[in-house]
Amino acid sequence: MPELPDVENFKRYFDSTGLHQEIDGVEVHSEQVLEDLSPGQLEEELKGHSFASTRRHGKYLFAHVSEDGWLVLHFGMTGDLKYFQKMEQEPEYDRLLVRFSNGYHLAYDSQRKLGEVRLADDFESFVEEKELGPDALDLDREPFREAISGSRAMAKSFLMDQSTLAGIGNVYGDEILFQASVHPRTHVDRLDEEEVDELFDTMREVLQTAIERQADPEAFPDDYLIPHREEGEPCPRCGEELATVKVSGRTAYYCPNRQGSSPRG
Ligand SMILES: [Zn+2]
Repeated sequence: MPELPDVENFKRYFDSTGLHQEIDGVEVHSEQVLEDLSPGQLEEELKGHSFASTRRHGKYLFAHVSEDGWLVLHFGMTGDLKYFQKMEQEPEYDRLLVRFSNGYHLAYDSQRKLGEVRLADDFESFVEEKELGPDALDLDREPFREAISGSRAMAKSFLMDQSTLAGIGNVYGDEILFQASVHPRTHVDRLDEEEVDELFDTMREVLQTAIERQADPEAFPDDYLIPHREEGEPCPRCGEELATVKVSGRTAYYCPNRQGSSPRG
C-alpha cells in the first residue's frame, strides 16, 4: 500500500512528466474512485488548464491546476501513476486518464478500486478538513516529543495514526520500530526521552532512505525488515524467526530478539 515514500516518488514522477502541459481531456474509467465529483465536473475543471505544481501531504498527492483548485489523489492499496504516449502502453487497471495536448497521457492506475480522486479549492483547508496531522517528514523533534507525551497509544498505532502524523502505514511503521528496536505494542508513554529521540531520528532516516531508493524494497539496505516481512522469514539482522502481533487490527512483523518478545510495561 502506498505510504509516504511511495507517494513522494509518485510526486517526483508527476513533476517530471505531467506538469505545464495543456490538458485536452479526461477519461474516467471507474467512477467509484471519484469522491463527491462527477466525470463531467472533473473534465470541466481540468480541460484547457495545466498542472502547475504538486505537493504531498502524508499519503496524499495534490496537483495544482492552473488558475484555481487542486486535483487530489490518494492511492488506496494499489495505486500508481503512468505517463505514456501510445495507448498500447496504457496500464491494465487504468481508472482515470488525463490526455495532454502533446499526445501523452497520465494514467491513475489501481488494481483495487480503493483509491480516491477529488478536487479541492485549497490545500490547507483540505488537510484541515481531513484532520491530517503534520506530514511525518515535516514534523520537528519538539512537536514529535509533545505528541508522544500526550499519547497513551501503542507505538505502532501512534506511528500509523494519520491525525497525529501523516504518511506512515502498516509497512513503514514496522520498519521504523524494527530499526529503533521498539516492540510494536509498547505504549509510547513508556519510552524514555532517549528512546523517543531515537524513534524520531529512525523515523526520518527510514523514510528518507526509502525515498532515495525509489521506495523499491529490492534496493533497500540489507538490514531492512520490509523485504523479509513475511511469515516464517528470518530477521535480516540476527536470523531469529520474525514474529507477528495484531495492533489496531493490522499485522505487525517484528524480531522478538531485537524488539523484545513482549512489550515493556
Ligand atoms: Zn533480529
